[in-house]
Amino acid sequence: MEFTDSYGRNINYLRLSVTDRCNMRCVYCMPAEGVQLCSHNDVLSYEELLQIARAAVANGIEKIRVTGGEPLVRKGIIYFLQQLAAISGLKQLVLTTNGLALPEMAAELRRAGVQRLNISLDSLQPDTFAAITRGADLKRVLAGIQAAEQAGFPVKINMVVMRGINDTEILDFAALTLERQITVRFIEYMPSLRSEDWQSRVVSGESILEQIGQRYSFTTEGRDGLAGPARGFRINGAAGQIGIITAVSGHFCEDCNRIRVTSSGRVRGCLFSDDGLDLKPYLASGDQDGLEAALRRVVACKPRQHELAGEEQNYSTFAMAAIGG
Ligand code: SAM
Ligand code: SF4
Repeated sequence: MEFTDSYGRNINYLRLSVTDRCNMRCVYCMPAEGVQLCSHNDVLSYEELLQIARAAVANGIEKIRVTGGEPLVRKGIIYFLQQLAAISGLKQLVLTTNGLALPEMAAELRRAGVQRLNISLDSLQPDTFAAITRGADLKRVLAGIQAAEQAGFPVKINMVVMRGINDTEILDFAALTLERQITVRFIEYMPSLRSEDWQSRVVSGESILEQIGQRYSFTTEGRDGLAGPARGFRINGAAGQIGIITAVSGHFCEDCNRIRVTSSGRVRGCLFSDDGLDLKPYLASGDQDGLEAALRRVVACKPRQHELAGEEQNYSTFAMAAIGG
């Protein structure tokens, strides 16, 4: 069975948020006062999340990314990941984390069957890092990245580039790929909170590449069908790779292969569209056919593209932590 949307895109990638709680407060992800959290009763149980994952895999999902909030703060996550990894037909189980818990958890995550980790890191400067995360300790995340490498994970580092905040560090991040087999992905800052100055904060993927090209020569890398919307590059002779995610300026939607499920059970076809469906009624009644049909409906209704570059922005603002990025 394959999920194909009305624009012919094969939807094989599910981002599954297991919590909206987080132990960081990144400025681009949530407002200073934090977010209105779901009550514990609204957060799906692991059994419900597994039901959704199984229904999705039965309909063509081949890759699941576990995300949040911060997925590693939810109790029992390792056991849940073991169950997910055991779903027959699932080809890739990956997880996105802010890295804080990795010094203790990297090895168990590997044993549980997680195949790859994306670690978010937006600055290599302790003060800038603390300012972006509203107080987190850079040393811990760097130790987390090291623990992940030692546990044998292929590691991707996600850097959200923001003009005037961390854009002077693009070359430092690119240099991380020279000796280590890690992938550094530069992500355009997205206006989920729609702050007044958001447009001036966005550094386009093209200008990121241009900056890297002034220092290094690089070549384009091929992508596999589960890779999502990153374009891949490698600095000549480097051990690792570079990725660019032009979430705002383009080249993103036409290759979109994903749907998202929030920790409260809402499935969404697009980050920047309010359309979606509540899966809870199907979970409550154990209606597997209804659940699968709801997933197929959301796939069928995926918009062709978001309209962030246009004049009109007709989505509600949201904390990325509530949806999972
Ligand atoms: N807490 C985990 C983490 O930070 O990796 C997982 C959840 S977080 C919402 C997932 C991803 O969304 C992170 O890589 C984060 O940098 C990204 N993100 C959050 N807000 C963003 C924004 N406004 N623009 C671009 N990326 C954003
Ligand atoms: Fe938490 Fe991740 Fe959002 Fe930062 S980006 S506040 S770590 S959910």
